[in-house]
Amino acid sequence: MEPITALSTALAAFRTSIDLAKSAVAARDDVKLAEVKQMLNEHIFEVTNAALQLQEKHSAARDEIDALKDDKRKLSAQIAQLEERSSERAKYDLHELSESVFVLAEIQPSEAGGSPHYLCQPCMDNETKKVVLQRQQKSGRINLVCNHCNSVYFTGRTYQIDHRALSARLAGGDM
Ligand SMILES: [Zn+2]
Repeated sequence: MEPITALSTALAAFRTSIDLAKSAVAARDDVKLAEVKQMLNEHIFEVTNAALQLQEKHSAARDEIDALKDDKRKLSAQIAQLEERSSERAKYDLHELSESVFVLAEIQPSEAGGSPHYLCQPCMDNETKKVVLQRQQKSGRINLVCNHCNSVYFTGRTYQIDHRALSARLAGGDM
């Protein structure tokens, strides 16, 4: 039986026994009164019990509501985070930096007012990390590097190595 139904039933029985008690008092029937008193005690016990069960159910329901509210809050935060990620990712597109070397380039670099820049594609797509690629000059090649995963992207551009300066540095023991 549902706690609320149990409580209504117990209350109805309780009221009936009060009416019986009243009539027993009016009739000055001591035997009947003692009988009714016993019934009243039983019904008080039933009402108390049903009220307690209802309270327990109410408290369990409230805990459940609190847990659901908590879940909803977490999900909303996750959705907001995902939306932010996807809107951030939508600002970039795959760009061939040099032959078969791909990075992410801002689709509309001027709109945000910032300088045009490139992002590391694996970091962005696999780890949702926005890592701006940095210029690196190495062995005559101009590269872009990711400071997070250490990927190196060749720009297709080269620079002239100053051999004389390099020899001087080697001779000086700098390298
Ligand atoms: Zn990276």
